[in-house]
Amino acid sequence: MEIKKLSEEFETKTPQEIIEWAVGTFWPEIAMSSSFQTQSMPLLHMATSIKRGLPVFFIDTGYHFWETLMFREQVASEWKINVIDLYRDTRWDVFARQNTRTLPLEDPNLCCYLHKVQPMQKALQDIKAWISGIRRDQTAVRAHAKILELQDDGLLKVNPLLNWTKADVQRYTEEHHLPKHPLYEKGYRSVGCAPCTIAIGINDDERAGRWAGRGKVECGLHTTMFSKKNIAEAQVEFQTDAAKVEKLEHS
Ligand code: SF4
Repeated sequence: MEIKKLSEEFETKTPQEIIEWAVGTFWPEIAMSSSFQTQSMPLLHMATSIKRGLPVFFIDTGYHFWETLMFREQVASEWKINVIDLYRDTRWDVFARQNTRTLPLEDPNLCCYLHKVQPMQKALQDIKAWISGIRRDQTAVRAHAKILELQDDGLLKVNPLLNWTKADVQRYTEEHHLPKHPLYEKGYRSVGCAPCTIAIGINDDERAGRWAGRGKVECGLHTTMFSKKNIAEAQVEFQTDAAKVEKLEHS
């Protein structure tokens, strides 16, 4: 399969056509990820309508808003979605408990690596294709993404909504009467973990409320951090003493 050529052809296809191709090619070794926020609903709606039982990975960092957890329960139940919760590896429990309050603020890159990147890396080991909901209009990093991205380890990342804009998401949401995250109307346009998300103005960039003022715009799932297979490789992105953390891993 010529991934590069296929990816270019998909630039003019609809998200539904791309999802149908991915499911038809890789089922049952395929899954999608979702953060269960308002902007996630269109892809979740499309993908789970096209393939009932499609595994949907939800990363439960332990830092979510209560509203996010309730919304995830409500949507999963009403749409009968096969949600699989992903958690931090237990080997980090001692370190994470000792640093629960400070870690997201003092070293968000390490926090995201332990709570999001590693759990997702582990979950993806058993599949061949990962459907993600990123869009080019969200961040500078995402602006350079491809619809099909073959990772070094052979995993194919599929980004069906890459060409969609915020307006496309709104249009689909309204046309299909999709539910909205309870915090959306309170100004939370993009909802992540509670310590790292603030409400924003109606005209601000969609992700302006994520890690606001901390020089961070991505959690690492869609950056080079995702290819780092252990703390030692990834520590260049951390601010704390990663060697100390690594020592804990082996204690
Ligand atoms: S978003 Fe914040 S709290 Fe959540 S894993 Fe990343 S740094 Fe930690």
